[in-house]
Amino acid sequence: MIIAQQKPLKEIFEMAKNFKRLLIVGCDGCTSIIQVGGEKQAQVLKSLLEMERRLKGKKKLTIEASSILRQCDRDIASTSLRSSVKDYPAVISLACGVGVQTLAEQFPDKIIIPAVDTKFIGMHDTEAGKFYEMCRACGDCILFETGGICPITRCAKSLLNGPCGGQAKGKCEVGEGKNDCAWILIYNRLKERNKLDLFTKFRLPRDYRVSEHPRELGGEPEEKEEKA
Ligand code: SF4
Ligand code: SF4
Repeated sequence: MIIAQQKPLKEIFEMAKNFKRLLIVGCDGCTSIIQVGGEKQAQVLKSLLEMERRLKGKKKLTIEASSILRQCDRDIASTSLRSSVKDYPAVISLACGVGVQTLAEQFPDKIIIPAVDTKFIGMHDTEAGKFYEMCRACGDCILFETGGICPITRCAKSLLNGPCGGQAKGKCEVGEGKNDCAWILIYNRLKERNKLDLFTKFRLPRDYRVSEHPRELGGEPEEKEEKA
């Protein structure tokens, strides 16, 4: 899922300071699951904004807080918010950057304030309360060849053909040895599975055209004009 983190309150207050009417919108997708941007966090942010304005002696503030199913879906975002957004000049979004941009596109006359920083695509370890980056959406997945461990993301240099000379005792030289070397993990995994032929396979440099930004997917393919 998309991993995000709430921005420092000072930053949110600064972006919202000129508005007397604010709509705070959470997202029931990724940011809600990781307890950063759902209904509950929207209500908490509402209380904090009200408190901040009171402390500054500025009493006139109307805030509504709610959450919608997904902010990254054009139709869901526009149908869920169409009636409520009209009463507010600004919306504070607790969704990832995709949600914020979807709202900005659907409601171009409103100021959309991002309240979270989008970090990465990652895995949640609920027990440890940690998130780990696992995929960089490279557009050409090679996990089948690497024992389900992504070298593009988990190797600090995104190497494709085994470890660099910097690994020491299974640890990566980047990051002061705190992370495992992805290629040692891959080697061990493939060895366990008796698949070391995949480890020695030579992989050509990647074709980065598949991950040029901005990418698109789906829709009807354009019909090519036939030459007369
Ligand atoms: S190879 Fe890695 S970055 Fe590419 S799609 Fe697979 S998991 Fe994601
Ligand atoms: S030590 Fe391992 S994980 Fe780190 S950059 Fe080299 S190959 Fe990649």
